[in-house]
Amino acid sequence: MPHSHDHDDGPDDGHDDDTGHSHGHGHDHDHDHTPIQADEPTGHYHNLADAARELLIEKGYFDGSDVREMIERIDSRTPAIGASIVAKAWTDPSFKERLLTNGKKTLKDEMDIDVVVADLVVVENTEDVHNVVVCTLCSCYPVFVLGRPPDWYKSREYRSRVVRHPRQVLHEFGTEIGDDREVRVHDSTADMRYMVLPKRPAGTDGWSEEQLAGVIGRDSMIGVAEVELPN
Ligand code: FE
Repeated sequence: MPHSHDHDDGPDDGHDDDTGHSHGHGHDHDHDHTPIQADEPTGHYHNLADAARELLIEKGYFDGSDVREMIERIDSRTPAIGASIVAKAWTDPSFKERLLTNGKKTLKDEMDIDVVVADLVVVENTEDVHNVVVCTLCSCYPVFVLGRPPDWYKSREYRSRVVRHPRQVLHEFGTEIGDDREVRVHDSTADMRYMVLPKRPAGTDGWSEEQLAGVIGRDSMIGVAEVELPN
């Protein structure tokens, strides 16, 4: 992997927040088109990851094409995968139980979805509990079921504030959680990724898995939104 502690994120993720990236420079063509990376100082973890990758390639554990294939694999994932998992859980109670008990194994055995790098814990929203996911350290995210994380997920703002003021942050996303429901914040790690199983909206009785999957958006599986039916 091109990054430290098996993260799913790109080289410009939250690890390097302190290194003073200088985006937004003018594009006035008074220079030749050197790669963007040339303008960006690499942070400590980036350098460490590069060194580790080169050493592992040199030692023969994998080669450059393995790294490229992994990146391609990551980039091929989208929230549609997560939506298909949620739709199945909504329509098959025994699958849901297995999913909540052992997410990674259940997805591999029953849907042939490989979570690959980390364990996956699926947390269920209920009448009593609303769950939301963050990685306070950097940007760990269930990339193999949701694709790459949105930019806000990697922002220092979200990472720091959702832990301390979850209801306020959810409010800013337009999501109001009543005082009668507990809000639980789950902090991801390199070894443990979380995905939210949102509440099934009223008015979807008898819907097929495919119909249900069509209304399940990415943000509801991070927990900053609930699933709502289009008007
Ligand atoms: Fe992280």
